[in-house]
Amino acid sequence: MFKIEYKSKISRARIGRLKLPSGEVETPLFLPIATFGNVRGLSFEEIKKIGYQMILANTYHLHLRPGTEIIKKFKSLKNFCGWNGSILTDSGGFQIFSLKNVKVFENFVEFLDEIEGKKHKLSPEKSIEIQLDFKSDILMVLDYFCGWPYKKKEIEKAVSLTTKWAQRSKIFFKEKINFKNHLRPLLFGIIQGGVYKNLREKSLKDLLEIGFDGYAIGGLGVGEGVSKMFEVIDFLVKKIPEEKPRYLMGIGLLDQILKAIKKGIDIFDCVVPTREGRHGRIFVRSQKFKYKIVNILNTKYKKDKKPIDSKCNCFVCQNFSRAFLHHLFKTKDPLGLRLASFHNLYFYFEFIEEIKRAIKKGKV
Ligand SMILES: [Zn+2]
Repeated sequence: MFKIEYKSKISRARIGRLKLPSGEVETPLFLPIATFGNVRGLSFEEIKKIGYQMILANTYHLHLRPGTEIIKKFKSLKNFCGWNGSILTDSGGFQIFSLKNVKVFENFVEFLDEIEGKKHKLSPEKSIEIQLDFKSDILMVLDYFCGWPYKKKEIEKAVSLTTKWAQRSKIFFKEKINFKNHLRPLLFGIIQGGVYKNLREKSLKDLLEIGFDGYAIGGLGVGEGVSKMFEVIDFLVKKIPEEKPRYLMGIGLLDQILKAIKKGIDIFDCVVPTREGRHGRIFVRSQKFKYKIVNILNTKYKKDKKPIDSKCNCFVCQNFSRAFLHHLFKTKDPLGLRLASFHNLYFYFEFIEEIKRAIKKGKV
């Protein structure tokens, strides 16, 4: 299911291949976010054209809107949204615990859908059931995270609940899936534990005992600071078995991605390229593995004939000037958001491809 094809000689970076029901994907891998089943503002034709083979969709949002029953009528989320690559779905936990009206019980979580004002319950089993109904390629277990700032006691509770829910998710998953079928979807566990090494270690040990296809690091990038975050990553990666894929959830500035790949992380997701793009903030390469973020709304681009990034081969940089993009943003034409998001996602894809080439050349 996961095969490491190349290991760096100077870092813990590796290049691997994940075999999934919808096809194979190469790691290190960045997942564009398709919260409601689409990458905002872009079509899947464009996502595919860039080279992306896998997206992340959001169980919580899709379960509420359009609703799992509607997606089931299409037999899969892929059919519903017209994507023919692979899909990783998160469990919904992160979104639910960001809501105001949430009650956490031993066996489930109760929350209020703030748009429709309806109460919902989500159990670890229900989350898996929804993700199986979506026919996801990688399913995430429902985990519990109390949010930042936190006290050690709260993180202790988060770890213990996350382990219990992970256990139940695995049992349910095993009942529903034929384990002899090698094209089954994969189930990933999520390591919690905040910035506390002993709690991170406990969480990982518990999950390893249950046994998952891959291990995700959750609850980072929430306010603990970048150096603390990398301390935790460094500490954990060495303890996750080498043959298992490692997924760093929600972290996605490119310099952090490069650093995390060197530490041995394989999978990433982040809203940054599309969210920044929608606000007119565009990634521009300065030198190898270095970039800056340009705010296209700045008046200095009003007459600028240059492309956004003269080193970029994307169709936006090949066809449009900074002045035109500036004009689109100024006149609030949705094409501006689309072009900026496309370029940023292209930039991310190329950045990771370049890291892969550097790993093979022994430079990363
Ligand atoms: Zn470009």
